[in-house]
Amino acid sequence: MSTDFDVLVIGAGIQGAGAAEALAAAGYQVAILEQLGVAAATSSRSSKLIHGGLRYLESGQFRLVRECLRERRWLLANKPQLVRMVPFYIPVYSYSRRPAWLVRLGLSLYALLAGVSSGYSRFRSVPRHEWDNLAGLNRDELVAVYRYYDAQTDDAALTRNVVDSAVALGARLICPGSLVGAERTDHGVRVDYVADGQLHTLRSRVLVNCSGPWIASTNARCTPQIKLPALDLVAGAHIELPLSLGEKIFYVEAEDGRAVFVMPWRGKTLVGTTERSYIGDPRDVAPTIEEESYLLRTVQRYFPQTRALQMHDIRDSFAGLRVLPQNGNSPFSRPRETLLCCDDDRRPRLLAVAGGKLTSYRATARRILRKLRPTLEANAGGSGGAAAGSNRNASSVEERNL
Ligand SMILES: Cc1cc2nc3c(=O)[nH]c(=O)nc-3n(C[C@H](O)[C@H](O)[C@H](O)COP(=O)(O)OP(=O)(O)OC[C@H]3O[C@@H](n4cnc5c(N)ncnc54)[C@H](O)[C@@H]3O)c2cc1C
Repeated sequence: MSTDFDVLVIGAGIQGAGAAEALAAAGYQVAILEQLGVAAATSSRSSKLIHGGLRYLESGQFRLVRECLRERRWLLANKPQLVRMVPFYIPVYSYSRRPAWLVRLGLSLYALLAGVSSGYSRFRSVPRHEWDNLAGLNRDELVAVYRYYDAQTDDAALTRNVVDSAVALGARLICPGSLVGAERTDHGVRVDYVADGQLHTLRSRVLVNCSGPWIASTNARCTPQIKLPALDLVAGAHIELPLSLGEKIFYVEAEDGRAVFVMPWRGKTLVGTTERSYIGDPRDVAPTIEEESYLLRTVQRYFPQTRALQMHDIRDSFAGLRVLPQNGNSPFSRPRETLLCCDDDRRPRLLAVAGGKLTSYRATARRILRKLRPTLEANAGGSGGAAAGSNRNASSVEERNL
């Protein structure tokens, strides 16, 4: 059987983009099927940080933090037009749940995981005489302020950049195009999709489900279905305020102890995020009044100059969906690792990607490539697979500088 593609990736969010880029760079024939638009879902609704995630240290996710910090270093070096270092400030008040010694300990560990030689691991306690320069930060009961560095990006632009790179490497983007059904056959996967109002069929050797919060509905369209772990959709909201607090990012504690970012964004201020279980169509996710009011209260607690703002002053707001494994913990402390699930562990034809971070998209893509290599290499050159005879060198791709 001849196939149209080696790999069909469902979804042009950051995970689908990264997978398509890595697979195309390895010489495989790749197609990306996207129903809404590139970065139209979660990958344009994140906190836009390229970071290890200081708060993940609290839940012991050291491996994830180290991996993300490694990826941060690579992105800073290779996509400086999209990823830039920004100073982060953590104010500690007499009533903060995380005392100064704990923040210092966390930052020391974070610096260690970043690699002391990286140059990005320095942090310091901001002396009192500099507190006047902290964007009007509330000084009542303020006992310490720490400064460290992490990175900020434009998530949608980063995703578009990676999709463009995949396309430049030969991937085909079918957008808008929506998966109708996929069936595993003896030699690959037969895929039906709708584009331009018409039903089309293509054949691929492998299907990779990178549909983010649609992971379960995409899986339900596949035969056989992959056994997915129990997953929750957790909504996270941001609000945009019509004023600038300067170029610093503040990492503050909300009334319930959750960490919330106050960030510069296109001359305004972005505040987020929240965590709320979500059931329903991922297209319909939007911030609730309660979330907007919680975020406004949080920023007003720390920045007195924002206290005159009312709910109707919120310029814009958006919400995205995290895909998190159910494990009984609060969403705040659930693992953020990416899970790869497949129909056959040795020779997968159907692979689903659950969860993960914007920051670690390349690391996830490398794992996908490793996982698919036995299937993609199995019949290379013999069965008429899409990339048979092509000039690929899959084994070298992990070293390639994507
Ligand atoms: C509130 C919030 C804040 C976050 N902040 C950060 C952060 O600061 N830093 C960080 O590193 N990570 C962050 N993350 C995580 C990061 O944003 C996500 O891990 C990432 O964007 C998920 O990308 P994705 O490609 O898996 O999903 P998505 O971006 O949602 O892409 C999935 C795509 O699949 C498409 N699709 C679905 N079904 C079909 C179908 N049947 N046919 C065709 N196409 C289909 C959808 O249209 C969609 O475009 C945050 C997440 C949230 C929710």
